[in-house]
Parts: sequence; C-alpha cells; structure tokens
Amino acid sequence: MYVLVTGASRGIGKSIVRCLLADDQKVIGTARSSEFPGEFTGNENFEGLHVDLAKPESLTNNLKPIFERPEAPNVLVNNAGIFEDCEFDEDDNDWLSNWDKTLQVNLRAPALLSKWALNRWKKEREGFLINISSRAAYRGDTREYASYAASKGGLVAFTKSVARGYGEFGISAYSIAPGFIKTDMAMESIDIYGEDYLTRGMAFDEITSPEEVGELVAFLASGKVPHMTGSTFHINGGSYMI
Ligand code: NAP
Repeated sequence: MYVLVTGASRGIGKSIVRCLLADDQKVIGTARSSEFPGEFTGNENFEGLHVDLAKPESLTNNLKPIFERPEAPNVLVNNAGIFEDCEFDEDDNDWLSNWDKTLQVNLRAPALLSKWALNRWKKEREGFLINISSRAAYRGDTREYASYAASKGGLVAFTKSVARGYGEFGISAYSIAPGFIKTDMAMESIDIYGEDYLTRGMAFDEITSPEEVGELVAFLASGKVPHMTGSTFHINGGSYMI
C-alpha cells in the first residue's frame, strides 16, 4: 500500500504513520508547519510535505500533483483537523470566520483531496479512503465547538456518499470517530477539566492513546475488509456506544 496521511507531524497522524512504516508501507505525510519526527525523515519509505489546508491554493499546489504522479497513493487518510472554539454570543463576523476556517480545514480540504484521489483510483479500480471524524459527529459537542461537530458530521456524510458511489470501482471509504485521544488537541480540555473528569462515563479510566487509532488505520489500510465500506469505527473507550 502507498498511503497519504495528512497531519502526520503530531498526535494521531504521527501514530498512524509510525504503524504504517512499521508495516513497511510507503507513506507521504503532511503537516502545516511543524518539523516531522526524525524517526520518519530517516526512513526511506517516508516523504514529508508542508501544506496549509486552510489555504486552498496551498492544497492545490502541493497535493493535487501527488495524484498526477506515475505512482500515486492508493490509500488516503484525511486526519489533519482543527478544534477552535467560538461562543454563540460572539460577534457575527467572528463566529462566521470560525465556521469558515473550521469547515475549510476539517471538511472542504479533505473533500477536495478525496476528489483528486477518487478520480485517479476510478481508473485504477482500487483505493481506500479513511476519514478521521469524531465522536462529536454523533453526540454533538459543547456549544462553543458547534462548528467542529458540524464539520465532523459533514465528513461522515461525505464518506458515506463516497462509499455508495465508488464501490463499483473497487473503492472503499471508512470513517473513524474517536472520543478524547491523548494528543495536543485534547490537552486544552485535559488541562481545564483534568483527566479524571474526562474519563467519567468511560468504560475505561484512562484517555484513549493515539497508538490505538494508528493500529486501526493500519488495519483498514491493509485492504482486508473492503465490504465494511461506509462504516464508522467508534473508538472512545466505551464513552458513547451506538
Ligand atoms: P493535533 O495533535 O492537534 O495534530 C494536528 C495535526 O494536523 C498536526 O499534524 C498539524 O500540523 C495538522 N494541521 C492542523 N492544522 C492544519 C492546517 N491548517 N493545515 C495542515 N495541517 C494542519 O490533532 P490530533 O488530536 O492528532 O487530531 C487528529 C484528527 O483527529 C483531527 O481531525 C481531529 O479532529 C481528530 N480527533 C481528535 C480527537 C482528540 O481528542 N485528539 C478526538 C476526535 C477526533 P502542524 O503540526 O504543522 O501544526
């Protein structure tokens, strides 16, 4: 497998890449501005690219050409995302700019990237799309993260449309919906509420590790369960079961 993973510098994306490289897969990883870990840059199977998903031209210039190369990835993991708050009583312009940025990074950019991949995979009659959504897509989020929950709900609906429309071309699409995962993104909530508060209501008394998500993605990317297309994989320590 040849895998493109967005948001590969830290957190869940870093764990995904680590698992894929351990399986000897070829990986292209992206980040906005962070350096990639030395364990990746020292691996001949890894290529790192810097792309800002908030800027459509950065996406088009840096990632569209990937799917025009003689050898292109046959697995796309849309992992990069942002989690930025904005309360309902804030100024309309500020509120809308939070919505615009969140939808751009978490939904429009992954959708456009998927479009480029799908047009290539349709010809090759094989491909696997893995979109990292969130528990918030199903449960909703707190008020100030309404745009985040909406973006992740949109991503699940998009994934299901791809699954329905591209199965006939040998393409599968999955969503993964994590609960709290111990990464920089969750750190703010951990700092504010503490780990004990966040694990209340979970079946386990510890926050889920990014490594577990990495293992799940590596399994889906192996192509062993194509008929699970359209499914969402919930990984939230038993905090929200559906
Ligand atoms: P993280 O630790 O904050 O890492 C985010 C990654 O995305 C980094 O590689 C970052 O690059 C990249 N990124 C952020 N903004 C970007 C942009 N504008 N353009 C390009 N790349 C950008 O996040 P994480 O916790 O690993 O989350 C990964 C995914 O899981 C996200 O989609 C998130 O919504 C989802 N998720 C996370 C949790 C959780 O509790 N952690 C729960 C549910 C879902 P730089 O390093 O260069 O900034």
